[in-house]
Amino acid sequence: MQKTIALVAHDHKKPELIDWARAHQAELSKHKLVATGTTGGLLAKELGLDVHRFKSGPLGGDQQIGALIAELKLDCLVFFWDPMNPAPHDPDVKALLRMCSVWNLPVACNTATADMLVTSPLFIGDTYQRAIPEL
Ligand code: PGA
Repeated sequence: MQKTIALVAHDHKKPELIDWARAHQAELSKHKLVATGTTGGLLAKELGLDVHRFKSGPLGGDQQIGALIAELKLDCLVFFWDPMNPAPHDPDVKALLRMCSVWNLPVACNTATADMLVTSPLFIGDTYQRAIPEL
C-alpha cells in the first residue's frame, strides 16, 4: 500500500539523508514522497526521486509537514535534525517532533532508526494501522 513519507534533513545532515535514501531508493520510490524545499531538491537532483517540495524548513516547511500530520495525511517522517548546530527555526523543529508524539506518527531521526523503519514488516506490509489518539 502506498504511504506518504516526509523527508527532512538539516544542512549538515543532508549528505547522510541522501546516502540513506540511495540505499532505500527502491522502497522509497514506491511511495509518495514529500520534503522540505532544499532537501526535496537534493533528493530529486541526486537520486531522481519524485518529491513534492514544501517551503524550505526555516521558511515554514517544517510547519507545512506538521500540518500534514495533524490532518492525518502523513504516514511517517524521516527527520535528520542536527544536534550539533543551532537552527534559526528551532521552535519549528521542536513543534514538528511534538506533532509526531501527539499523533503517534513513526519518526526516524537517524540512519539506524530510519533503516529499521523502512525495512520493518509493519512498514512494508499493508495491515498495520497505527493508533490515532482520540484527543
Ligand atoms: P530544507 O529544510 O530542506 O529546506 O533545508 C530543512 C530544515 O531546515 O528543516
